[in-house]
Amino acid sequence: MPDDRSFVAETTHLVRAVGRAMGVTFRNLLRRPVTVRYPTVKRVYPDRFRGILALTYDGETGEENCIGCRLCEYICPPQVIKVEMLKAEKRNFAKTFTLELYACEFCELCVQVCPTDAIIMMKSFDLATGDRRELLLDKDRLHALGLAFDPSWATGNRLRDAQAPPKPAKAEAKTAAPPRTDATEPAG
Ligand code: SF4
Ligand code: SF4
Repeated sequence: MPDDRSFVAETTHLVRAVGRAMGVTFRNLLRRPVTVRYPTVKRVYPDRFRGILALTYDGETGEENCIGCRLCEYICPPQVIKVEMLKAEKRNFAKTFTLELYACEFCELCVQVCPTDAIIMMKSFDLATGDRRELLLDKDRLHALGLAFDPSWATGNRLRDAQAPPKPAKAEAKTAAPPRTDATEPAG
């Protein structure tokens, strides 16, 4: 035979729990939602947001910024970057540049070492796909991404400047040389 007291206690406990849960629900019904209807509505990302990787052009000359130095290839922990250098008279270029974004760790090391801010991160992660082959990015695709999205503030040169040790304070103005105090009097 069931214990009446335990039945009442359990029912009371249940009713209170449901009441607390409904209280949370009703409170949140009146709040402004924190979610957005992505992709129709997109959030504005902060300037330092680091998303997908891309290659850049020089804003003045229109030339590719990549000089094919392969530093990004050497630093990349999962080795997802492959670069072939094309030597030219005035400067070098990347003959080929591929990045397997599906295996990228987004560690940003490639960005940090790039001497010309050629590889950067964008203020977007909007590259979802069901076909991983679409995330094998060649040079053209990487440049197209660089034009399609806003760049992050965090370029290699800015990051290196931010991480550099502080410059020593300028030396105080040289103190004037003390006046000569030659006490030796000529012998009279
Ligand atoms: S992206 Fe930067 S680090 Fe990589 S090869 Fe080009 S210039 Fe060198
Ligand atoms: S972010 Fe890191 S893992 Fe991704 S390509 Fe750059 S170095 Fe490689």
